[in-house]
Amino acid sequence: MSDVPNLDNVVVLPVKRYVRFYRDYIECDFCGQQTRGRVYEGSQQVTCGACHSVLVEVNHDEIGVLFEPDF
Ligand SMILES: [Zn+2]
Repeated sequence: MSDVPNLDNVVVLPVKRYVRFYRDYIECDFCGQQTRGRVYEGSQQVTCGACHSVLVEVNHDEIGVLFEPDF
């Protein structure tokens, strides 16, 4: 037996690109944290940056104009 964790279970996720959806912070309906909402690349959902709950579903036409560098 050893204390070494089983690294086979560790999944390294690639860093996903996202844009802020809101210009100003809003309060998440689910966790109450301040969030500007994240839209991940290829996603049609605005998610909370803290709890990752889906805040809003948006269509691609709306996202298209929002994909500007913001970081
Ligand atoms: Zn939240």
